[in-house]
Amino acid sequence: MTDKIVKFLECYIPVKTCNFRCHYCYITQNNWWGEKLPEFKYSPEHMAKALSKERMGGTCLINLCGGGETLLPPEITNIVRCLLQEGHYVMVVTNTTISQRIDELLSLDKDLLKRLFFKCSFQYLELKRTKLMDRFFDNIRKIKASPASFTVELTVVDELVPHIPDIKKVCMKELGALCHLTIARDETKTSIPRLSNYSEEEFRQIWQDFKSPMFDFKLPLFEKKRTEFCYAGCWSYCLDMGTGDLVQCYRTSAKLQNLFEDIDAPIKSCPVGCSCPNPHCWNNHSFLGLGCIPNFPAPRYAQIRDRICKDGSHWLKPEFIDIFNQRLDENNPHFTKKEMEKIEKEYHKKPFKYYKYLILRPFTFGKRKQKYTEKLKKWSR
Ligand code: SF4
Repeated sequence: MTDKIVKFLECYIPVKTCNFRCHYCYITQNNWWGEKLPEFKYSPEHMAKALSKERMGGTCLINLCGGGETLLPPEITNIVRCLLQEGHYVMVVTNTTISQRIDELLSLDKDLLKRLFFKCSFQYLELKRTKLMDRFFDNIRKIKASPASFTVELTVVDELVPHIPDIKKVCMKELGALCHLTIARDETKTSIPRLSNYSEEEFRQIWQDFKSPMFDFKLPLFEKKRTEFCYAGCWSYCLDMGTGDLVQCYRTSAKLQNLFEDIDAPIKSCPVGCSCPNPHCWNNHSFLGLGCIPNFPAPRYAQIRDRICKDGSHWLKPEFIDIFNQRLDENNPHFTKKEMEKIEKEYHKKPFKYYKYLILRPFTFGKRKQKYTEKLKKWSR
């Protein structure tokens, strides 16, 4: 029987180190690099128990993404294993060069691997500088030969433009298809704009040959504030796997609850509604593609992630084609108009908290964030 995805969890793995130094990475932009690997307060078994299907209300799609390279901490293999054993679908964002960890993951039980997906970030310039291009594609071939699924995405920045012919050639030779494209953002500015000197139209023209549905969907929505009713905080959440802190969405100042402290407490449902806290929905391909805003016109997530290769094979195996063709707004009950109005009213009923939040907001961006993070956490409680 086909699994039904009821929630999407965007999980932060608290690693702030990496074997690469991409200049467009938000950790580089904020000068957050540290050398030490994280210490996890809770065991992988405890994390999985806290995220049990029973507690979460069903099967979840869980994305694991580090601040630096996700696969560096040795604990990650067991975290992935425990979440898969719980019955969830797990996505891992990686630069795909940590072969030992990839081998560990690929040695998991075949039935678990069918629910594992690798988001392989194609860091072309760093792969060239570190001479790790062969290792990157070797690891992708290993994933492709396993029951797991994958995608390959390139973060487009202006420095890559002279390399476009070579990028295309390498992709067709090594992958049998062109990579998908995602958009770099300038994290030092409050509006989090596109990190490029080209206009939107020039940018589109330069990269359009890749025919990436991900890029085509993301670009026109970048820097456009969302005002529709969003179910983030109800159908999707952001979770810190180091602390267990759960928030509605990125950069939401107040935490909803700690998921790992009291694992018997029910999950709070507190949708963002029409008050999206962000200047724009920069990971709209995930949140809107998966249906956090009901009926938002978006390609299915399967289209955003899959490619059909020259030989007819797919990057997604059948299990993930099915899962990525689902949407949260089709799998979950909706609020009535009256309930939505009540949620909106509740949100705006706390003027002091709301204005305090607005005043503090500028401090949560760019280089100042590090300095104010601890204060903000205290103030926003
Ligand atoms: S519109 Fe996007 S950024 Fe805003 S709350 Fe919803 S999911 Fe989050």
